[in-house]
Amino acid sequence: ENNKDELPQSNEDSNHEKQNMLDYEDIGSTKDIDVPPLLIDQVIGHEESVETIKKAAKQRRNVLLIGDPGVGKSMIAKGMAELLPPEVLQDVLVYPNAEDSNNPLIRTVPSGDGKRIVMANKSTTKGYEEKKLIVTMILIAGVLALGFIYRTQLLFAILAALFIFFISMQIKPKNITMAPKLLVNNSEKRFAPFEDATGAHAGALLGDVRHDPYQSGGLGTPAHERVEPGMIHKANRGVLYIDEIGTMTMKTQQELLSAMQEKKYSITGQSENSSGAMVRSQAVPCDFVLVASGNIQVLEGMHIAMRSRIRGYGYEVFMKDNMPDTKENRKKLIQFVAQEVKNDGRIPHFSPEALDEIIREAKRRAGKKESLTLRLRDLGGLVRAAGDVAKEEGANLVHAEHVLTAKKYSRTLEQQIADRSIIQRKEYAVFNPEGGKIGIVNGLSVIGDRSGLMLPIAAEAAPAQSKREGKIIATGKLGEIAKESVQNVSALIKKHTGTDISLYDIHIQFLQTYDGVEGDSASVSIAAAVISAIEEIPIDQTVALTGSLSVRGDVLPIGGATSKIEAAAEAGIKKVLIPRSNMKDVMIEKKYEDAIEIIPVDTLSDVLENILIGCSEKNSLIKKMKKISSAVADKVPKR
Ligand code: ADP
Repeated sequence: ENNKDELPQSNEDSNHEKQNMLDYEDIGSTKDIDVPPLLIDQVIGHEESVETIKKAAKQRRNVLLIGDPGVGKSMIAKGMAELLPPEVLQDVLVYPNAEDSNNPLIRTVPSGDGKRIVMANKSTTKGYEEKKLIVTMILIAGVLALGFIYRTQLLFAILAALFIFFISMQIKPKNITMAPKLLVNNSEKRFAPFEDATGAHAGALLGDVRHDPYQSGGLGTPAHERVEPGMIHKANRGVLYIDEIGTMTMKTQQELLSAMQEKKYSITGQSENSSGAMVRSQAVPCDFVLVASGNIQVLEGMHIAMRSRIRGYGYEVFMKDNMPDTKENRKKLIQFVAQEVKNDGRIPHFSPEALDEIIREAKRRAGKKESLTLRLRDLGGLVRAAGDVAKEEGANLVHAEHVLTAKKYSRTLEQQIADRSIIQRKEYAVFNPEGGKIGIVNGLSVIGDRSGLMLPIAAEAAPAQSKREGKIIATGKLGEIAKESVQNVSALIKKHTGTDISLYDIHIQFLQTYDGVEGDSASVSIAAAVISAIEEIPIDQTVALTGSLSVRGDVLPIGGATSKIEAAAEAGIKKVLIPRSNMKDVMIEKKYEDAIEIIPVDTLSDVLENILIGCSEKNSLIKKMKKISSAVADKVPKR
């Protein structure tokens, strides 16, 4: 019956697949694909966000990008710098202040001039230093020669020579001590500057004045030479990018905000006990566009005034983590692979079948029906890993099998833990996918992002010790979830089976759980284990299941269907029950397709029907359940 139901759906799926199939007519490999020159045009899957960024760039507006890691936020920020109007960039020089040495002077000049001014100064300095050296040498040689002629005065002559040397070190004409330092150099920039200030401390962000231990006594480095620019100054007329802006201290955000408002900011020493803190330069220009980013939680750590500044003078952009699986978007994904190959520069290009494999993986990783993932940083990792495999084998193109091998190597830590635990548990016989057992069920869970894990659950029921009511005793980290699920299903069990579970003490145990295991989707499994324990009907151990149970007995969709099924197949399970509404999310790898049967379920009765081992008790339980539920259905008016 179930299979019949599935047929139209899988037809629909394969139609969809056929429609989106690429024909690669004139593409031999990714080599034939042009990579757009501008970075912003290389951004895949965020058309709307890119439009907004283009508008923001034209008007030099601030932007807040909200989205998951690795979807291209910093890429967009960098791309924005390339789009900024090609205003005249500036160089910034810092000069000593003759009147107040602790207040160095700032001068801005057109870009390129800064370097020239400093070079001109250097060459006069160099000429002067050469002449000084020659004169000093002649004098010293003369004095020493006299000393040798008049032996009695030798000691005096050596002292005189040392004195001449010391004096010559000290002489610096005014125009040379006044030499400026180049603070911001834009001479070689083709585009507006881009500065990534993610995680920068106050000094790096806002500029600093170095400490000088020899400050008093004239031996020290002049104040202006100790002035260091901050990223806000280097980003002048360009883009300042800050990821995870919420992790910056409030004080730093406050300073950043005032820099944004004033468009200039004096540099001073950031550590209070340093001699640098006495120095404060004239204001240095910092007219940047701020691109801040992070995931949605970042907003909590963000200074309120900062957020409202961006909102008032800029745009807030939300970035998706997947895109619809269409022919158009598949082509973009191929462009992405071409870009990654080109940027890496060391790996071979991708053949059409290898590209199909990448598309398949992008579909799997989307974890949602008919979608492709946009977490492209991770997918880029797979592209590079596949390239490395191909290169190692001396292949001049990446083929499908290279991608498949790479998938094995580039498993995340969580996936490796999950793999390991399956092997371990098999060794210790925690689960054994054969035969029937009372009260033991193979639940399924996910760990981390997308790694499935078997989650065996054991339930035991004994007549309640307390006369008033039975207890639910659940151990392990997931105990709370278990108690809640049993309470939720107790009414259901009574309704379905006529059994009052409050007459029992029920023990529930999750066998060998790991940190980070998510157990929300275990409620169907828990209910099945409890019913099996109470009714003493064995559960088929070749079956695994997942799903969340509503109080009405419906099996509701869960996340991570694909990885859960794969974990079950990996563990030797033959049949897996999943909520029917998750059927469209299933994208298991080819190698598992024949190994495991996937059965969609709608209700708790469906589950029990599939998971309990056939026997007279089972038949009478199912009959009872059907009778009770049809009696209930009769009472409910039809819509
Ligand atoms: P985020 O800042 O969101 O964490 P990044 O911009 O640092 O992500 O992305 C890292 C890399 O992943 C990029 O340099 C690029 O190679 C690739 N990438 C990520 N998102 C995209 C995208 N939307 N289009 C093209 N490449 C992308």
